[in-house]
Amino acid sequence: MFLNELRASINTLKGAGSQTCQILARLGIADIAALLSYFPRDWEDRSHFVSLSQWNQERQVYTIARVLAHEWFGYPKKTLKVHIEDETGRAELICFNRPFLEKQLVVGKEFIISGQFSYRYGSIQSTNFEIENVEQVRTSAEFPFLPVYPLSAGLSQKTLRRLMYQALHIYGKNLEEELPEPVLKKYGLLSKSAALHAIHFPKSRDELEAAERRIKFEELFYLEVLIGRRALERRQEYRRQEPALPSLGNSLSRGLSPLQQRLAERLPFKLTDGQMNAINEINQDMAGPHPMARLLQGDVGSGKTLVSFMAALRALEYGGQTAILAPTELLARQHAENAARLLEPLGLSVAFLTGNIKAAGRSALLKALAAGQIHIVIGTHALFSADVRYHKLRLVIIDEQHRFGVLQRSAIMAKGDHPDLLMMSATPIPRTLALTVFGDLDVSIIKDVPPGRKTIKTHLAKQSNEKKVYDFVRQELAAGHQAYFVYPLIEGDEDSSSSGNLKNAQAMAKRLSSSIFPEYRVALVHSRLDEDEKRKTMTAFRIGDIHILVATSVVEVGVDVPNATCMVIEHAERFGLSALHQLRGRVGRGQAQSYCFLVYSDRLTEDGKQRLKVMLEYSDGFAIAEEDLKLRGPGHIAGTVQSGYINLGLADPVEDSKLLEVAREEAFSILERDPGLLAPEHLVIRQVLERAPPFAQVAL
Ligand code: ADP
Ligand code: MG
Repeated sequence: MFLNELRASINTLKGAGSQTCQILARLGIADIAALLSYFPRDWEDRSHFVSLSQWNQERQVYTIARVLAHEWFGYPKKTLKVHIEDETGRAELICFNRPFLEKQLVVGKEFIISGQFSYRYGSIQSTNFEIENVEQVRTSAEFPFLPVYPLSAGLSQKTLRRLMYQALHIYGKNLEEELPEPVLKKYGLLSKSAALHAIHFPKSRDELEAAERRIKFEELFYLEVLIGRRALERRQEYRRQEPALPSLGNSLSRGLSPLQQRLAERLPFKLTDGQMNAINEINQDMAGPHPMARLLQGDVGSGKTLVSFMAALRALEYGGQTAILAPTELLARQHAENAARLLEPLGLSVAFLTGNIKAAGRSALLKALAAGQIHIVIGTHALFSADVRYHKLRLVIIDEQHRFGVLQRSAIMAKGDHPDLLMMSATPIPRTLALTVFGDLDVSIIKDVPPGRKTIKTHLAKQSNEKKVYDFVRQELAAGHQAYFVYPLIEGDEDSSSSGNLKNAQAMAKRLSSSIFPEYRVALVHSRLDEDEKRKTMTAFRIGDIHILVATSVVEVGVDVPNATCMVIEHAERFGLSALHQLRGRVGRGQAQSYCFLVYSDRLTEDGKQRLKVMLEYSDGFAIAEEDLKLRGPGHIAGTVQSGYINLGLADPVEDSKLLEVAREEAFSILERDPGLLAPEHLVIRQVLERAPPFAQVAL
């Protein structure tokens, strides 16, 4: 049997009463498989003694000591204090809630004491210790390391260790191997059974390390097998019927298609190398027999939108439509306006569809879409409502993909017959995470930003120094530029306890316009305004009618107004790193020098301080994402939760990134050589996946 097939209940073990079983169930341990997969968080090293005198050099004292005397202290509840001595010195055991130890710890006798000691009230003391009889030194030769499990109330290490030992003894012996023999050999891995024993009751540090490596490898290997299979399935499940278009051969300049070439000629700038590469990769995918599934990563301002328009042009050349999905109406509208400006002159018809479009206009639009008269439709989730029909949806583009869930993605994909998929992300994901989260996608990365852009100058300012910031912004405004002011809250009185001292967008918009910048036009935009008002404000800001845009984080995504050179974020410590990076990315989009002011309150948490420091030190989104990962762990990185980031047992894709890459390479190379897993040595992989799948679900 495989480990995951051991479905016998815990109460088949001796000493597992109903209460213990209940507590274990609460820890998610309902059967033997789950019990054996409940790994220790630490191991108590009993392989060598640590005397009392070494209490502050080693993590844990482990010694044979004699009981010198008993003493009771405290009132009204008395606590037992036991004086002990080993060859090197004396110490005290403080037996909180353990009065019964009086009987066990007979004066004059020797015991094995293990625990953490500290210096308090003039002596070396421990409140956190365990006692064993001296005869047990013998067993400690057998168990030089004892597992320390994460516990919950009512469950002791002793009970869990006993159950674990029993389970290993009864069930762990005949465990079937879960990795192919050649893989075990190639990487010198322990067998499954040996690893499982050794992870719980290792005989040595080396054995423990080997066990960890084996178990992590297996987890990562199967994760990558699943990812690899998904990629294969996608490629195999569908072949396009249509004849391939004439290839984009030599006559075409730098691999652009005719329509793409025409757009490029109309642009006031040259495409960057990163953009060109991405376009080439997309063109190749779209010419291939299998639908594209590509993630386009690029820092804020790297020009992803244009790349996606190029893809839409290619789709049209194949006679198909494109849907561009954006997370907010603001962003969708901006894309639609850009598309209209850039693509309509080439003869394309562009439409904008959101939930707010009025009935009459909507039905006309839907008709045109279904008839194929509209080539590119841009909008929010309205794009996949039930009544929306496409004539021939060839390409789906999802901007800010991390804002969408898996279901929404499939809903829009289902509108076409295996359309190509291009997902765009402005929140760069570190490579190791990308491998797990988006492991079955092809990835294009735009590394460069358009030339001539100057690095945004970032400054930290204390709230009490805000006037200096305002003065600086005034100079920029005087030079004809524009500014954003961003606040964490819309209004002041949402929750007076925590927001009492926080500035809010509404009040600050008033203050900025009436007393700080009376000579400039100030407007406010936030999520509660109706779409019409938002649109008017954004348009006015874009054409320069408004000088200062006061906002909440609604301007975080996508908004593109190159003439804005100042981003002032007040209470910056309140924003997460990826939001700060996105917000800062709203400026620095034109030729002029841009500035970002992070105004922080005087009471700064350690966390907040760290984030601001990262913002000051780094401007590259990938680097900031790495720092975010270090500060908060992978679960919080934008896009990973929604994308079904998997919690593995022992392995951590980030910390174990080297092993992950090895496991991925092995898994992918096996699948490449033997996609059906038909070779006898690969049979085991197929069996594990069928009989005992290691992860409930990998949602990609
Ligand atoms: P993002 O990758 O953050 O979505 P955008 O697509 O919004 O970036 O592009 C940012 C700005 O850069 C836009 O104003 C766009 O017109 C401009 N841009 C795009 N490509 C280039 C280029 N090759 N050279 C100069 N400017 C460019
Ligand atoms: Mg964008």
